Amino acid sequence: MAKEYNPYKEVVEIIEEAAKKMSFSKKDYEVVKYPERELKVSIPVEMDDGSIQVFEGYRVQHSSSRGPCKGGIRYHQDVDMDEVKALAVWMSFKSALVNIPYGGGKGAVKVNSKKLSKNELKNLTRRYTAMILPLIGPERDIPAPDVGTDAEIMGWIMDTYSMFKGYTVSGVVTGKPIEIGGSLGRREATGRGVMFMTREILHRLGMPVIGTTVAIQGMGKVGGTAARLLYREGCKIIAVSDVSGALFCESGLDINEITEYISNNEQKTLAEYEARGVSHISNTELLTCRVDVLIPAALENQITSEIAADVKAKIIVEGANGPTTSNADKILLKNEKTIVPDILANAGGVVVSYFEWVQNIQSLTWDEDEVNRTLEKIMIRAFNEVWDCCEKSSTNMRTGAYMVALERIVNAKKLRGVFP
Ligand code: NAD
Repeated sequence: MAKEYNPYKEVVEIIEEAAKKMSFSKKDYEVVKYPERELKVSIPVEMDDGSIQVFEGYRVQHSSSRGPCKGGIRYHQDVDMDEVKALAVWMSFKSALVNIPYGGGKGAVKVNSKKLSKNELKNLTRRYTAMILPLIGPERDIPAPDVGTDAEIMGWIMDTYSMFKGYTVSGVVTGKPIEIGGSLGRREATGRGVMFMTREILHRLGMPVIGTTVAIQGMGKVGGTAARLLYREGCKIIAVSDVSGALFCESGLDINEITEYISNNEQKTLAEYEARGVSHISNTELLTCRVDVLIPAALENQITSEIAADVKAKIIVEGANGPTTSNADKILLKNEKTIVPDILANAGGVVVSYFEWVQNIQSLTWDEDEVNRTLEKIMIRAFNEVWDCCEKSSTNMRTGAYMVALERIVNAKKLRGVFP
């Protein structure tokens, strides 16, 4: 991944821009620019061949002003502290934007998890959990899945934490397997939220859902679910991609067949998918293909300034965190693109994580319909608040979303005061 940018510096710039628009004084928001805590850990793992490898891990807590810190754990070979700090800030803003009682945090391990055996992955996860144990807990900081992690890994984290406590603490992580306290609807929640936000922006811009053409970068938990749900709503998905490359079909891809193909092949990629009318293109070609809606749902720093000038989609719905660099953002806005920003578009995950935590601490279970209906209500409310703020302040949706969230974070900080 070419590092055109530092994601942490970029998010601080956006906070300053939103603060300026709201006429906040530096005193009001200065503290919001800094994470409360940053922890870096070394994780020794005994590999299957008997050797020892030491991995680097992180947990950052950005803000606990509005409630416990909340945010996923990423396993990726390129991750670094600045990326984790940015991801933690985004979580605080996301939680505030959808108005759930959480702050923001994020964790990561610098590892290519695909290169580890299941046993090595389990040992890495358990040791990482032990190393960040002083920071996490259902009242202080609650991890969840992110890139490279899944429900099974969350189950190992929950078990490790519980072993140290001496009793089962299901609320210490969300995104767990259903059988051990996971919520129905959590796995699809982020992608479902992306679908709701795509539908809302199409309505606002007077465009139909049925027949709208869409390209999606990333076919993982977020992109794969968004693809399936938008396909079901009647959108024409003409391009999808993953780390192995992209597929393109002018008349529309068969998303159900592609989803089955990914889960049934050994590499779990699109690399060798063949079908009539489908061609293989590059990820750059996907980002710049002629569509109505582009959904980057892989990693940050994908729509760079070089790519932005060639983006043809009218609407960009950011499924991933930070997929657009700030220079690219300026180019897209100049070219009159509408961007539904990450902190709004992908907030469905944290909303249903909140539902899971609420169910865990009350020892209750909600049915899937209730989860999906309440998610839809919260996402649409947040969308409308951002839209109204944009109209009132004559600004774009990214700045509008940060304004709505920043006001809530600053108010909480003011009401609590600065300790001591
Ligand atoms: P994932 O690991 O399930 O999927 C990532 C997908 O991106 C995979 O299909 C992978 O092959 C693809 N990919 C990786 N590198 C790529 C590249 N260079 N080019 C094209 N595709 C590439 O991860 P996920 O959970 O779907 O997360 C995707 C994004 O959404 C991340 O930015 C993450 O932070 C964000 N996000 C995830 C959640 C969640 O609940 N999982 C919530 C909010 C935001």
